[in-house]
Amino acid sequence: MKLRCKSKTKEGMSCSREAGESGYCHVHDPVRLEARRKAAVDTRTRAKPLNEVIEVLTATCEARGWASEVVSIDNKDYRHAALKVSRYVDTGSQQVQITGFVRSRSMEG
Ligand SMILES: [Zn+2]
Repeated sequence: MKLRCKSKTKEGMSCSREAGESGYCHVHDPVRLEARRKAAVDTRTRAKPLNEVIEVLTATCEARGWASEVVSIDNKDYRHAALKVSRYVDTGSQQVQITGFVRSRSMEG
């Protein structure tokens, strides 16, 4: 007879997946959970410097009342991102939107 996982689902029901050697299924295995948690922390650590750059650019735009939007981010190495920055200029008769892109050189095709 196959063993059932010892864990419970989010709804509080017994997990119905088949248990491995640990007594837990592949989702609830504590060793795997720890590995996933660690991978998430590693990603956050690697992404931090780029996120700081994006934060500074975004805050600078915000301080000027300009709109900014992250259009692409390098989710592999966390070294490049592209932002779209726009502002409205009053020409007297109408509001004109001026848009620019901020991106690292290596992202240019
Ligand atoms: Zn389970």
